[in-house]
Amino acid sequence: MMTNKNEAIACTVNNCTHHAQNENYCTLNKIQVGTHELNPTKVECTDCESFVNKAR
Ligand code: SF4
Repeated sequence: MMTNKNEAIACTVNNCTHHAQNENYCTLNKIQVGTHELNPTKVECTDCESFVNKAR
C-alpha cells in the first residue's frame, strides 16, 4: 500500500485509518485537535478529532 506521509504530523496511533503504518506519521494534509474536557490541563485531555478507527 502506498501512503503519502505528512512529515509535519508525527503520530503513533496506528489504529487510525489515516496512519501511514510503515512510518509514524499521519497521511492527512491537516488534522483537527480538540479536547473532551471543559478545562483541559494535561496532555491526556487533548484528542486528535480526525481519528478514524481502522478496524470498523
Ligand atoms: S488522523 Fe490523527 S490519530 Fe489518525 S493518524 Fe492522523 S494524527 Fe494520527
